[in-house]
Amino acid sequence: MRLNIAIDGPVGAGKSTIADEVARRLGILHLDTGAMYRALGLKALRSGTDPADEEAVTALCRGLDLDVRTSEAGQRTLLDGEDVSHLIRTPEVSMAASTVSRYAEVRKIMVRRQQELAAAQDMLLDGRDICTTVLPDAPVKIYLTASSEERARRRWREMQAKGLPDTFEEVLQQVIDRDHQDMNRLVEPLRRAEDATELDTTEMDFDQVVEAILKLVEEKTHGQ
Ligand code: C5P
Repeated sequence: MRLNIAIDGPVGAGKSTIADEVARRLGILHLDTGAMYRALGLKALRSGTDPADEEAVTALCRGLDLDVRTSEAGQRTLLDGEDVSHLIRTPEVSMAASTVSRYAEVRKIMVRRQQELAAAQDMLLDGRDICTTVLPDAPVKIYLTASSEERARRRWREMQAKGLPDTFEEVLQQVIDRDHQDMNRLVEPLRRAEDATELDTTEMDFDQVVEAILKLVEEKTHGQ
């Protein structure tokens, strides 16, 4: 049976870094699905398309030249043949990604690609709708969260390390705004799937979270 692991959670819950490490320890690939919406957000910004224009963004998505390459060395996101893995991490692209991910047709296209990738190999996927929509039958489903202040603190530290000038208050506001948009959109809003295990990491460090997930994987897949 395919080992598919689904992890959802709000902004800055540490999904990507945690998921990278868990996948590495299990010897499987990790697909960061947020990167796909980010690439579309970047494409909209670059082409002068308003992310709030559903029709124009949907047309962009239908013709999107997006290549997501997952390997043990991590994920590379290629847009129009260019490696944009770092360029998609700015606050502007984050917000554009959140906006373009509201559209039903966009989600349909992205979800289909994610399901195809997950069907072809053992894989851990992280995002907002993995447990609820992309892989509702995954044997391991986790909702990773933490308080908004803690998530903003983690993100702010990351941004500081990269030399980005945003203040903690600005980062906290970005976290709150993006959570609000992700949790209140009409199509597949972020929510915890009823059968997903919630892991509140506010008081946990990186290693504790990784160990907790590995233990859960062991419990859920034991004997399979
Ligand atoms: O996870 P990340 O912060 O990179 O995701 C960027 C944005 O993409 C999120 O704010 C969310 O709006 C959207 N997203 C989504 N569904 C996913 C992954 C990301 O709607 N599976």
